[in-house]
Order: sequence, then structure tokens, then C-alpha cells
Amino acid sequence: MPRPILATVHTGALRHNLEIARERAPDARVWAVVKANAYGHGIERAFEGLRGADGFALLDLDEAERVRALGWRGPVLLLEGVFEPRDLELCSRLGLWHTVHCSEQIDWLAAHKTQQPHKVFLKLNSGMNRLGFTPTAYRAAWARLNALPQVDEIGHMTHFSDADGARGIAHQVALFEQATEDLPGERTLANSAAILRHARSALRGAGSLAADWVREGIALYGSAPDFPEHSAAHWGLLPTMSLRTQVIGVQQLQAGDTVGYGSTFTASAPTRIGVIACGYADGYPRHAPGGTPVLVDGVRTTTLGRVSMDMITVDLTPVPGAGIGSEVVLWGRAGNGTVLPVDEVAHAAGTIAYECVCAVAPRVRVEVAE
Ligand SMILES: *Cc1c(COP(=O)(O)O)cnc(C)c1O
Repeated sequence: MPRPILATVHTGALRHNLEIARERAPDARVWAVVKANAYGHGIERAFEGLRGADGFALLDLDEAERVRALGWRGPVLLLEGVFEPRDLELCSRLGLWHTVHCSEQIDWLAAHKTQQPHKVFLKLNSGMNRLGFTPTAYRAAWARLNALPQVDEIGHMTHFSDADGARGIAHQVALFEQATEDLPGERTLANSAAILRHARSALRGAGSLAADWVREGIALYGSAPDFPEHSAAHWGLLPTMSLRTQVIGVQQLQAGDTVGYGSTFTASAPTRIGVIACGYADGYPRHAPGGTPVLVDGVRTTTLGRVSMDMITVDLTPVPGAGIGSEVVLWGRAGNGTVLPVDEVAHAAGTIAYECVCAVAPRVRVEVAE
């Protein structure tokens, strides 16, 4: 028997979460963001659940090739555009849409010999200050692109820095509106947080503000981008990945006994603990402190002591019937239907669900289930 750790990708939950995006942004087409190997789910494994999207957005050219290899003929967008001139050949061959965020990318296009004109999204830096042209440089960049025979469609794009928080998106939407005013072309705005929190107000139906395309990532994968203000359940999202393992050892502690490296947990009373086959080498966050939630036989309990490379210890007090072979859910859905949202585990570990799902290690077997 292989080591009992197993990740399950839930196709039906992906499909359901995509529907939630459509409800929140009914007038927009949806880019399913599948960068980082579909947020750790695996592009090929997530594809069945996400094929109802209008397009796939990602970063790596090899991921774009994989989406095409799955038979997807619809739009594919490179969110960071090309990294060097010869990437444009693959864009031509695979019919990829690509982001243009710096003048070098325009130079490369101008020098590119192509039969097939390119579709690009010109990126505005509306305050995030990572990629994109500043509002003052935006129109000149657009004019340069517009003059190129290599380019036949120019859309407009920006990315929000605070869609999940108090600052919101209005200041960036205003800059975007100003910079793109009167320019033809489709608009793509909105990550998950903006889709869930703002799509029904700021992004919808307000003339040039309306997004033709939204770009949804983490919410497709069942996580609330604004946790803990809101939970996945609040937004109606279902977990798309369950990380499960089993109890492989049991210890009976006496008061004063300690557990694991650094002896960071000391029992204050007799305590039955389970040792589970999961550790940071499986992608579980090492910084998750004792007290991080976990499900044993579908019952909520907590970790104790430090996470080690291949094992974690858990408190079996709430599940006295548990023993070797008992089901353990690190996040996702238990056999009895109980859900432990990945957001709660990430939060306890001082990180975000994005990092947890992306980190699931290659040694973890993965299955796909409906
Ligand atoms: C990753 C990414 C998204 C999706 O963000 P989520 O918060 O996961 O929804 C959207 N747009 C761009 C440019 C991205 O890089």
C-alpha cells in the first residue's frame, strides 16, 4: 500500500464555483485562471470541471501548450505576456492572447514576423505597481500597438491590489476608466475578490466600466479571497481539493509528556494522540502551530506540537474511537461530508489558501472525483 496521503480534486465543485462567478458577474465572460498548475490542482485534472469557462488564463507557455493539448480551442491568455521575442512564435502557433505590459514587449512584436495577427491585452498599472504602463504612458503605448500590422485586437487590462480589503477598487477603476476612455477594445478587470465583492456594483453596467472579461482564480478553487471577513460558505463556494491521510500511530501521553521536535506541546492531562502521515514535505505548512484544525473520522480536532517533514500529531480526545487507519482530513471534505475549509488551515498557519493548495507536493498522489 502506498503511503496513505491522497489529494482529491472535485470536478463538480469546480463546476459549481464557476457558476458562482457567472452569477456574480452575469454580463462578463470568465477567464478561468489556471496558473501555477491550476493552483496546485493540476491543469489536466481541473480541466473537466472548468471547461465551461470562456477562456483560460495562465503564465507559462508550457501550461498554454497543455491547455491546447487538452483540445481547448477557445481563448488562452498569457497574463504576464511573453518573456522573450521568440515566445511570440508560440503565441502565433497556438493562437494565444497575450498581455503587453512594457515597451520591450511592443518592440518584440514590432520585429515579429507573423502570418497571424495577435490579440493582446494592454496592461495599465493603476496602482499595484507591478506590471503595466502608467496612466500617462498608456495612450502612447496603445497608439504604438495600434499601428503594428502584427496586432489586430487590443484589449485593456488592469489588476486590483485591494479588492479583498477596505481600500476597495474605486480608485483603480477611476484611473482605468480615464486611461481607456474612448479607446476601442475589450476590458478585463477583476480577480476573485473583485468578482465576489464588487462585480454587482462597481463593475456592472456602468458604461465603460463594465468588464467584458473577469479573471477568476482562487474562488474557482473554493477559497474565500477575503477570509476571515467572509468564509467560502458565505460566498457559496465548495472545496475543490481534499487533502486526506490516515492515522498511522497512536500514543497515550501522561501529564507532563511532550510531543515532537522542540517539545513545543506538553500534555497537562492524560491525552491520546494520533500520528498522521502528512508533513511539510507533502506541502502542509510547517508554520501551522499546534491548535490548527484537522478532521479525524470527520470530527474536528487540532494538531499538537510542530509539523515535521512526514508526520503531524493530532489530539484524539474528541474522537475516542479513532485508531490506526482512521481518516484524517487536512483540508477539504471528509467521508462523512464535514468540510474543513482550506482557508481556516491557512489562516492558522499565518498564510493564505493560495499558498496551501499550490504547495501540495509531487509525492502526494492525486485522484479526480466528481
Ligand atoms: C492570479 C491572477 C488573477 C486571479 O487572482 P485570484 O485572486 O486568484 O482570483 C487575476 N488576474 C491576474 C493578472 C492574476 O495574475
